[in-house]
Amino acid sequence: MDFDEYRVRGKEMVDYIADYLQNIRERRVFPDVKPGYMRNLMPDAAPVEGEPWQAIIDDVERVIMPGVTHWQSPHMHAYFPALNSFPSMIGDMLADAINCLGFTWASSPACTELESIVMNWLGKMIGLPDEFLHMPGISKGGGVIQTTASESTMVCLLAGRTLAIRKFHEHTPGLQDAEINARLVAYCSDQAHSSVEKAALIGLVRMRFIESDDNLSMGGRALEEAIEEDIKQGLIPFWVCATLGTTGASSFDNLAEIGDVCQKYKLWLHADAAYAGSAFICPEFRVWLKGIEKADSIAFNPSKWLMVHFDCTAMWVKNSGALHRTFNVEPLYLQHENSGLAIDYMHWQIPLSKRFRALKLWFVLRSFGIKGLQKHIREGVRLAQKFEALVLADNRFEIPAARHLGMVVFRLKGENDLTEKLLKRLNHRGNLHAVPASLKGKYVIRFTITSTYTTNEDLLKDWNEIRTVADELLKEMDIKFVDRSRVALKDTREKNEAFGSSLLLANSPMSPKIVNGSFAAIFDADEFLAKVYAGIRISNQDSPAMRRRVRGILMSGKQFSLDSRMDLVVHGISPNEVKNGIQSKAITEDCEEVWEGTKGSL
Ligand SMILES: *Cc1c(COP(=O)(O)O)cnc(C)c1O
Repeated sequence: MDFDEYRVRGKEMVDYIADYLQNIRERRVFPDVKPGYMRNLMPDAAPVEGEPWQAIIDDVERVIMPGVTHWQSPHMHAYFPALNSFPSMIGDMLADAINCLGFTWASSPACTELESIVMNWLGKMIGLPDEFLHMPGISKGGGVIQTTASESTMVCLLAGRTLAIRKFHEHTPGLQDAEINARLVAYCSDQAHSSVEKAALIGLVRMRFIESDDNLSMGGRALEEAIEEDIKQGLIPFWVCATLGTTGASSFDNLAEIGDVCQKYKLWLHADAAYAGSAFICPEFRVWLKGIEKADSIAFNPSKWLMVHFDCTAMWVKNSGALHRTFNVEPLYLQHENSGLAIDYMHWQIPLSKRFRALKLWFVLRSFGIKGLQKHIREGVRLAQKFEALVLADNRFEIPAARHLGMVVFRLKGENDLTEKLLKRLNHRGNLHAVPASLKGKYVIRFTITSTYTTNEDLLKDWNEIRTVADELLKEMDIKFVDRSRVALKDTREKNEAFGSSLLLANSPMSPKIVNGSFAAIFDADEFLAKVYAGIRISNQDSPAMRRRVRGILMSGKQFSLDSRMDLVVHGISPNEVKNGIQSKAITEDCEEVWEGTKGSL
């Protein structure tokens, strides 16, 4: 492709994108394809000779789009929003063209400088104290754009670990770093995102899950009790993650209380506000940010709700020295640590290189302005309130956790099985898409407003779809809702042999809040998957490794991604066998074998 052709093809792509987004309602939000669908549509090796451009473009509709979940669709309610916007896309187009790598200031000065400036803008927009901002000579803190919230959590955990180990050395010399590491304990609520658990796993530190209260919130007292207990055991508490806007129900930990505890015990406090952080640009939602001055770090994803397309996680720390000490591999550079003259972002993150992400953020902030962005957030909340009202007006449904911001969790009254069936059928029909969560043992449908294009009419359409499917389901199951009274579900168990096993597949017992978008969780595995793969079943008698794998899965109770399930299916173990396994053998094997099985499958 030469310059002239680029001018033509580039503009064609802009038109294609505009058509795609403008007419997105015409597409099924959730694709109607089966695992492995693409293999039949593609050659199994790359072309030797370059192909005509048109051939590639034609395959977008033939091969790619049929397997796309349309995250920008107004009928997309799964996970959290992952919004884009025209300014963001255009800004990134430029960043892609420049394609500089911003690891040091000198590797592309504009990349580093713009990032520190827009991070200050954004920090002020959500009301962060000055200590979190880049203010040479005044503050040791500052903001950095990370790839994901998960990475931010891990970076902060590692920084906290570095400080804790140093501090311990000062008080009690003579121990190896690894010996101290082995005694470190981190804390988060049982509603925290799975990435918090993952950070501890990678950092080789213990993670204590604090039981959340009835509002799905972690408070200071429960945290302090756990800390005291661990100190008595000779452990070293060092790090706490407070979640602002949990994934399961968008609930909020009590940051002010937790902050007091962290200050008392000198623990690093990280605030994970991945979704809700965007809302803090509206002053009325900052009540949940109370106490932030006691935190050491905070991160949120403009790539979720602020119309800056993925990836873009805004992270601030109060003391960037802790990051330098953790990630600086060139001791000479330490001399520059707080000089304020130049930032080398390579010391603020795990990878060396970084994309020019600040550019798309800058385009968005300037193009919408603070007012425009506030209007967007408030509209999302208004739509969620509207949906909440629709649910509340139907006495067959309940909302088991308070609605916060743009997310409603709801369920059919009665047993979990009922709501699970409802959701799976809705996803199978493909007119709207949502994923489940488990809140203190209750199976709920998470319904987030995700699209910038969502209108009242879209929501009414979704609600009608939900009611239609619920009518159908309740009729089939012969369940009648008598006005406001509890439903008799005595037949449910008899009619459905897999009754009650769903949550085992959908959630890990350790992390009941996990939001699950695995194939098993959003489709009815019995009705759908087993049928699809009936033709290719191979006897699993011959595969002890696979048998071990299944047992491992059953024992660990972990959630499975579509990938991890797919290879079971391809190897000929039907979801039925997985479920039967739960009831029959499972839980007796020893842990070593489980580990073996899991390892073999990776
Ligand atoms: C979405 C989310 C995450 C994970 O975000 P990534 O950027 O995908 O790592 C972590 N924590 C919370 C509370 C979230 O909502």
